[in-house]
Amino acid sequence: MSNYDPKSLKAEEFINHEEILETLKYADENKHNRELIEQILEKARPRKTERGIECAGLSHREASVLLACDIPEMTEKMYSLAREIKEAFYGNRIVMFAPLYLSNYCVNKCVYCPYHYQNKHIPRKKLTQEEVAKEVIALQDMGHKRLAIEAGEDPVNNPLEYILECIKTIYSIKHKNGAIRRVNVNIAATTVENYRKLKEAGIGTYILFQETYHKESYERLHPAGPKHNYAYHTEAMDRAMEGGIDDVGLGVLFGLELYRYEFAGLLMHAEHLEAVHGVGPHTISVPRVKRADDIDPDVFDNGIDDDTFAKIIACIRIAVPYTGMIISTRENQSCRDKVLGLGISQISGGSRTSVGGYAGYEADERPHDTEQFDVSDQRSLDEVVKWLMDLGYIPSFCTACYREGRTGDRFMSLCKTGQIQNCCHPNALMTLKEYLEDYASPETKEVGERLIAKELLKIPNEKARKLATEYIENIHLGKRDFRF
Ligand code: SF4
Ligand code: SF4
Repeated sequence: MSNYDPKSLKAEEFINHEEILETLKYADENKHNRELIEQILEKARPRKTERGIECAGLSHREASVLLACDIPEMTEKMYSLAREIKEAFYGNRIVMFAPLYLSNYCVNKCVYCPYHYQNKHIPRKKLTQEEVAKEVIALQDMGHKRLAIEAGEDPVNNPLEYILECIKTIYSIKHKNGAIRRVNVNIAATTVENYRKLKEAGIGTYILFQETYHKESYERLHPAGPKHNYAYHTEAMDRAMEGGIDDVGLGVLFGLELYRYEFAGLLMHAEHLEAVHGVGPHTISVPRVKRADDIDPDVFDNGIDDDTFAKIIACIRIAVPYTGMIISTRENQSCRDKVLGLGISQISGGSRTSVGGYAGYEADERPHDTEQFDVSDQRSLDEVVKWLMDLGYIPSFCTACYREGRTGDRFMSLCKTGQIQNCCHPNALMTLKEYLEDYASPETKEVGERLIAKELLKIPNEKARKLATEYIENIHLGKRDFRF
């Protein structure tokens, strides 16, 4: 008898091992049950209601049946439903961001990460505030508006005060027309009081990867340091929400444990947040274990191939339609190409995964000494932007919701009332226009201008369309920072 309870605040009750095992068993028993699979797909289909387009999403059990199903024809149906949902809520927009590594000092011993404290052959580095400013200027000069800051866990070298100071520095830098308008934060699990301070500092999403939901594996993979504590780590999002942060980002590191186990755990975590706080995760990231100094990904025997990876992404899209999904430059161009249409809503571009990797380096030059993982997609932001547009996507540098206070359930209601097409779409076009005016190469600019002209016509509301056209003309004349 399992003591599974999505409303519980205890890690082992809302991520319940027995419930996951029973889910996997149920999924295996039903993976060829066409009737049930059709019913599940039907339940998840977008529906037009008075309020707009709505999706019911799926429970972890239902979604696990889809993931387990290996009937090619059904997989095709899943992909087409994932595309339909993506189109309904995210259209052809892809939000751009970049990681900024502040410090690789760390007291943990995560066996898959080169920053673990026993790795003696990487230099340890922590940016000073002057260095942070230089990195931010370099990122602004590329065209970025949205960052995810990253730091190891080290209460002496990177205490919360250091992180807060960095956030302040980042928001204060206004170089030419540049500005970082949203700082997402990916740092170790901490206390309610510290989450409150992060909220006060004006962070966007608080991101913390679970790495694995399997408790035993978790403890083995994190043999020492504060991160060893499974419950403290798994309950972090509840503390973050208690501290007032209502946009939280989940993620597992695929390759550490059996992917079907992780998938069920991830969805249970989302259900738990919804049940307790009334709002699910803002984003889900889907990193896979990669090569790095001291780390050989082949040591982890749960690696997943590109097809499985695509299916996971499609099933997440179907199960939690309102949650953004992120992939990073860990993935190469062809993999990113394949999964973009299946549900990804945010990607990084022009990324450096080392401490101090942006300032002072040419576009084709990258320091490797403090890299957290090998970057597979090494193209510049301009190349990624042009590539996206050539594929028919709109690269978006939008940060409007955060700046308008549309976080948590207010953001969700924007999604659920179908206003996204009158809001995100013009915002994407306006921020792309800023990018084209200030940072793009002539070839990228040409493709972008054509795209904007075509996409403006797709804004459904006439008033919004007129206003967006006017704002875009103003951006051409030198004005900045319009938003809906
Ligand atoms: S994953 Fe994070 S906590 Fe673990 S060793 Fe790397 S930087 Fe430290
Ligand atoms: S308007 Fe809000 S939801 Fe839409 S792209 Fe901008 S920040 Fe995201």
